[in-house]
Amino acid sequence: MPNYHIWTIGCQMNKADSEQISSYLEQIGYRPCPKPEEAEIIVLNSCVVRQSAEDRVNNKINALKSLKRGKILALTGCIVDSRVDGLRDRFPHVDLFFAPQAFSELSQFLEDRGLAPKGLDSGLITHRPKPSAFVNIIQGCNNFCSYCIVPYRRGRERSRPMAEVVREVEVLVSSGVTEVTLLGQNVDSFGHDLQAKPSLADLLTELNRINGLARIRFLTSHPKDMNSHLIERMARLEKVCEHLSLPIQAGDNDILQAMRRGYTVEQYVGLIQRIRQSIPHIALSTDVIVGFPGESEGQFRKTYDLLGDLRFDTVHVACYSPRQGTIAARKLNDDVSAAEKVRRREMVEGLQECIATEINGKLLGQIVEVLVEGREKGKWCGRTRTDKLVFFVDEAVHTGQFVNVKIEKTSPWSLQGIIAGQSK
Ligand code: SAM
Ligand code: SF4
Repeated sequence: MPNYHIWTIGCQMNKADSEQISSYLEQIGYRPCPKPEEAEIIVLNSCVVRQSAEDRVNNKINALKSLKRGKILALTGCIVDSRVDGLRDRFPHVDLFFAPQAFSELSQFLEDRGLAPKGLDSGLITHRPKPSAFVNIIQGCNNFCSYCIVPYRRGRERSRPMAEVVREVEVLVSSGVTEVTLLGQNVDSFGHDLQAKPSLADLLTELNRINGLARIRFLTSHPKDMNSHLIERMARLEKVCEHLSLPIQAGDNDILQAMRRGYTVEQYVGLIQRIRQSIPHIALSTDVIVGFPGESEGQFRKTYDLLGDLRFDTVHVACYSPRQGTIAARKLNDDVSAAEKVRRREMVEGLQECIATEINGKLLGQIVEVLVEGREKGKWCGRTRTDKLVFFVDEAVHTGQFVNVKIEKTSPWSLQGIIAGQSK
């Protein structure tokens, strides 16, 4: 059997796309392989949200030059824009460039070379190695935050028809999946472009009815679009997990405005308060950019202090990275030095480590329900409804099971415990 190798960096959307590509390649008879040198087909799924990610992608593509001999090398993800000619000049050893989600271009390429049967649906996922699955519900983004390349690479918002999403989840559940994570750059705007104008709350309500499905998550939410109706529905639907990803990006109103985020600090704080009132034990995650053009020490301090007040479970912090073509890169001067950005990032990381240590420490001695996803470094691992990563050791096989774990050790990033019985 021939092999394929797939390398993925970036967001959950990229991971979901890679799952789809893997599923297609396995349907046409390829086997996954961890080493690119042993593969006949290599797929690189790229991210260019920050320069550091783009640098990793460039290095990876160039490193594969010497390995190439006779292999098919395909490049997808956000590095692929409409000007493929420029990419072809830079990377002549790459055989195929296809935009995110343009799976049919990969299948057409392989069909044309007699490597795949004609007409197989490359969008169809037939196997799921894990009990939890990503499901795309909306592509693209209409927001044009001033720093962000995503709308330029993934296009405008396109919701999938609700019936199609429900059908996909039903098929996944019938193949053993018990948890789904609905994906989109801005899931709260799901449905606005569909004829019947369903909302994310409507979709959650439909999915909540599916027998055999135990958990529903969704990400990413946008603070300007998250409304009380959705919060109320989240609180009421028992399968919707107590976990929300709600990027704040900055804690200063002038910076938020320059970022074109469409909300103020006060509106964001009010939203968090309403969410916590309705869903008291919810775990909240956020994203922050430090060193945005013009960000003064005082403005950064406001972000830092706000993170200390709001106490998120997880904070993803990034140094601002100018992305060619975005509004910020065209109009604003990248005037915070690289060293200063790193200092601010490390300050946020230090603060968050303390906060997460305290939040997770409260789980010591408690019994939590874990959906076991598989094994890592000799231990079973899985997640709680609040998205905490939990490890435990046990002889029996637990993949796909819901187990109760008594927490014996905590850290800012994960929990460890002993099995305290099956939960479902
Ligand atoms: N749609 C989500 C939102 O509204 O926040 C997130 C999408 S974005 C691909 C993921 C994260 O990357 C953002 O939350 C932001 O913190 C970060 N990011 C995006 N562009 C960036 C840039 N130019 N420099 C640094 N970080 C950036
Ligand atoms: Fe980028 Fe803003 Fe869209 Fe998120 S909402 S993908 S940060 S433009």
